Amino acid sequence: PKILDVENLSARYGQVVALHGVSINIRAGELVAVLGPNGAGKSTLLRSVMGLTTSTGSVRFDDQSLPRRGTSRIARAGVVLVPEGRGIFAPMSVAENLQLGAYMIGGRGTEFERRRDRVLTLFPRLRERLNQTSGSLSGGEQQMLAVGRAMMAEPRLLLLDEPSLGLAPKVTAEILETLGQLNRSGLPILLVEQKAPLALKLANRAYVMSNGRISAEVDPREINSHA
Ligand code: ADP
Ligand code: ADP
Repeated sequence: PKILDVENLSARYGQVVALHGVSINIRAGELVAVLGPNGAGKSTLLRSVMGLTTSTGSVRFDDQSLPRRGTSRIARAGVVLVPEGRGIFAPMSVAENLQLGAYMIGGRGTEFERRRDRVLTLFPRLRERLNQTSGSLSGGEQQMLAVGRAMMAEPRLLLLDEPSLGLAPKVTAEILETLGQLNRSGLPILLVEQKAPLALKLANRAYVMSNGRISAEVDPREINSHA
């Protein structure tokens, strides 16, 4: 079954058409990558699914139409985005940023403690930094916090926009490994990534975008066996 089914999605910024009728899908349990150069429309695709950009077309999540506006409504439906540039609040502590992720869907009480424990198990480095200002973390730790905050909302589909951006290979590998672990535990993931080799190591399937269109669909197993 398809967990996400995007059909004929179009979006523009003024005169600039950023998406020309894009169709993609994610089946239950899959990790699907969207590759392509800068300006291809990858972020706009995620932003449109998330209701952050006006778009036309159909977005179905778990066999229901996803609201087209209202990020918090979409998050409560189970779709959460880790945006490009991470989107954490630098002056707030790590603990406060995690709390925001839970607030997004109305989390509280013991439920909150249990969620936070799971997130800190995924990213043990954050446990030692709970009371630090988020802006004082390294780039890699900030990305861990961004993913952790998204997980506090207990998504049923996780969207990620270039999680490797600006990070050293070692910490990138650590973060991607954790994403792979989450996926193997059953979480479907849509991963936008410019660094194709990294994404293809993890993905079940991959779409390539250019100029606002899907230009190819690739099978990572074929690519990896030629690499
Ligand atoms: P990618 O994520 O693949 O780099 P984007 O979705 O960011 O691509 O951009 C797709 C197109 O839309 C590009 O031509 C880009 O310049 C344009 N674009 C993106 N955001 C804006 C914006 N806020 N205003 C105007 N044009 C934008
Ligand atoms: P299973 O259902 O296979 O037992 P779990 O749902 O318990 O798998 O999760 C497996 C792994 O994924 C664990 O390491 C868990 O901490 C992590 N995980 C799964 N969902 C979340 C979540 N919403 N937040 C944080 N960690 C999670």
